[in-house]
Amino acid sequence: MLTLPRPRLRHQAPKDLAGRINHHDHVAIFVRTGTNLRTLPHGATIAARLQARGSRMAAGETLIIEAPNARGTTIAVGFVGADTEAFRLHELARQLTAYKEPCGAIGLATAGLAGDHLDQAIDALLGAALARAPLPSFRTGPKRARPPAIELFGPPGQTARTIAAAQGNHLARALTALPGNHLTPPAYRRHIQKLARTEGWRYRFLDEKKLTALGAGAFLAVTQADKRGAGIVHLRYEPARSRREARTLALVGKGICFDTGGVNVKPARHMYNMHEDMEGSAVALGTLLALTALKVPFPVDCYLAIAENAVGPRAYRPNDVVRALNGTTIEIVHTDAEGRMVLADTLTLASRSRPGLIIDYATLTGACVYALGSRMSGGFSNRASHLPLILAASTASGERVWPFPLPEDYEEDLKSDIADIKQCTLEGEADHILAGLFLKRFVAHDTPWLHLDLAAGRHKGGLGLVPTDVSGFGVRFTLSLLLDQGLAW
Ligand SMILES: [Zn+2]
Repeated sequence: MLTLPRPRLRHQAPKDLAGRINHHDHVAIFVRTGTNLRTLPHGATIAARLQARGSRMAAGETLIIEAPNARGTTIAVGFVGADTEAFRLHELARQLTAYKEPCGAIGLATAGLAGDHLDQAIDALLGAALARAPLPSFRTGPKRARPPAIELFGPPGQTARTIAAAQGNHLARALTALPGNHLTPPAYRRHIQKLARTEGWRYRFLDEKKLTALGAGAFLAVTQADKRGAGIVHLRYEPARSRREARTLALVGKGICFDTGGVNVKPARHMYNMHEDMEGSAVALGTLLALTALKVPFPVDCYLAIAENAVGPRAYRPNDVVRALNGTTIEIVHTDAEGRMVLADTLTLASRSRPGLIIDYATLTGACVYALGSRMSGGFSNRASHLPLILAASTASGERVWPFPLPEDYEEDLKSDIADIKQCTLEGEADHILAGLFLKRFVAHDTPWLHLDLAAGRHKGGLGLVPTDVSGFGVRFTLSLLLDQGLAW
């Protein structure tokens, strides 16, 4: 059910497109505006159609024709300008690569593009084509055809990174798509264990017994309703050749396999799709997979907080007071704010080994979705110097993250009469910011820390390169943050 697609990819010289087009069911081409269309295969037909439509060759426009060949090859053309941003490029690439099934072979090409633009266009086309690999399905009847073979008419450039990102994203989406009765905490752990063996990661599991001995009362508050298989998975990637000064990166993810809301139970409309509340952990895992494929020269720790937020006679309740792993006492206000509870202790655990940077991923707050919608995610950091890097990675990766502040005076809202801190407020005003401030308290040693509230974890109809509602948002953003913006490394 969880096999990662291995792309069948061949590189071809750009000039060979015309000769190969009859071998493809579908060809997607990015064309720089102003390019002579006669240089494209069936360019005369494309030019005539464009003219008949009365449209100019404007950036952002697309045109789809059926080639007058025996195969009836679909040729999807997208026009781009010199300043077309990555996100827009990705949205276009998603349209252009929407092949009809069955499709045995797809060609990806560009015309009139050079330098960085060319690399970005190739990355977008290939990323979008790979993102169409099918997610797990329980439908009976004929199986879906396997994804088409891909021929890439362009420089190989950065295709290794595109493939690594696509695989990490696919893993994140495939896990998130699995229903709650299939991806139970123990089943999730088995998938991770298997991956750890094939990828060569060190695997450790802190079960309830170990967490009780440690005193992880924030995590355990959530799991006391249903203890089956909950705990924190700790994975570690060690580079074959580590730079001596290389500091460890720590990835942390919220893995709530189903969120009923707890005794403050969610209404039906809000409980539907709550098997996806583990997406943050899947994105952390997908990012680890991509970094491993790219053989990054620094160690990576990955901590996944895996649990369910269940209803039951032993479930935690509002006004309960619990003691977190770092000693902080927390007054429970709303049992549906379970994400920050499991993350609090997981962040403490991750920061105690003093990594160079922690990044956490969580489908955390409705407030972040109200603030941004579901096309972008929210970014928070305990370092002001991170904010411009977040914006740069957001633009470069096409996964848009908008930074929010963590102002100290807002902490007043979390003052409790009976404990060190309240879990949240009942009003819910600025809850994404309060959740960030809450989590910040549990990061030990003032470790540099970045928190992603994944408002864009699900976007109806697809987002950027990804054609499914579940987006797996965050893998590409993180790769750009680490490898292009040089955050901490
Ligand atoms: Zn919840």
